[in-house]
Amino acid sequence: NKQVILRAYVTGFPKESDMQLNTTSTITLKLPQGSTGLLVKNLYLSCDPYIRTRMTKQQSDTPSFGAFTPGSPITGYGVAKVLESRDERFKQGDLVWGFTGWEEYSVINATQIESLFKIKNTDVPLSYYTGILGMPGLTAYAGFYEVCSPKKGERVYISAASGAVGQLVGQFAKLSGCYVVGSAGTKEKVDLLKNKFGFDEAFNYKEEPNLDAALKRYFPEGIDIYFENVGGKMLDAVLLNMRFRGRIAVCGMISQYNLEKPEGVHNLMSLIYKEVRIQGFGVHNYYHLYEKFLETVLPAIKEGKITYVEDVVEGLECAPSALIGLYTGRNVGKQVVVVSRE
Ligand code: NDP
Repeated sequence: NKQVILRAYVTGFPKESDMQLNTTSTITLKLPQGSTGLLVKNLYLSCDPYIRTRMTKQQSDTPSFGAFTPGSPITGYGVAKVLESRDERFKQGDLVWGFTGWEEYSVINATQIESLFKIKNTDVPLSYYTGILGMPGLTAYAGFYEVCSPKKGERVYISAASGAVGQLVGQFAKLSGCYVVGSAGTKEKVDLLKNKFGFDEAFNYKEEPNLDAALKRYFPEGIDIYFENVGGKMLDAVLLNMRFRGRIAVCGMISQYNLEKPEGVHNLMSLIYKEVRIQGFGVHNYYHLYEKFLETVLPAIKEGKITYVEDVVEGLECAPSALIGLYTGRNVGKQVVVVSRE
């Protein structure tokens, strides 16, 4: 059983060498005697920015996202096939998505089973359940519809807009009749935003010496909704450009995850003057919407109303570099690792 393990806790920017590919000598493809749960074969793994936060010794304040144990495999979302089941809800051959290990085969214990979803629709690529039809997709859906309270004609800005979450938020916003602008870190991503995902405008934030001026160019009358994925200087510039009673959904702050001390935010007084509502959210509190979300998004994919870009690498050994690439913006679209295609 090949596994990607965390070698030691990480400070600062993560490196590939913080992780290691280990091969355990033997694997019996049977659940240990007396154990409950499932034995699964992992097919697709999801590289997600929050994984870095679990590489730090300090526990996060969300218990399910606690720190990894050095010497043990990285865990995260993935798509897997059930090889053996001692849980009446699953049977051999079922396809599932949810929490699993960065390894070829995983034992999913009775507690972890609660995070698994059985995959019922297999007429879309299975890797979609790591992204558009999985955790990032639900994040975009819940964050945009539940937290942003969008109205037709509103002006929406999305940072890290070409990524797993951002590309969907932008498309949901277009389907809601909003004016949508996204930012990303390369020309290729900016072109995707405008030509593939249908954003009204997009810009490369790395080429803007003054983010405040860039936002004023695209939002001369201000921003109604900001979908926050990056934090730091971007948030500060956005705060200067919010409209009266605008909303900010704080989904993530990837620019802060590798810093030992988060940057300060200076323009919070704008929240008072403009009566802006800022709200963070965690997707784990929105899984009750998952079936409704699937009913909306699956037909939209099939009818071509929503498109999706993923960045797929082959082989478990590529997982460490794929993960690190998230923090330099190397991924173009949702970062997926193929462990096995069947
Ligand atoms: P992406 O697919 O967007 O990948 C991350 C992207 O972030 C990179 O490609 C890069 O794009 C950008 N980025 C990296 N470092 C920086 C930086 N220092 N400054 C600005 N941009 C940077 O990731 P996801 O779509 O999966 O996640 C997006 C955000 O949503 C993250 O913050 C994540 O933590 C958060 N999230 C939150 C959830 C929740 O429950 N609240 C659930 C899921 C995700 P570029 O080239 O544009 O710089």
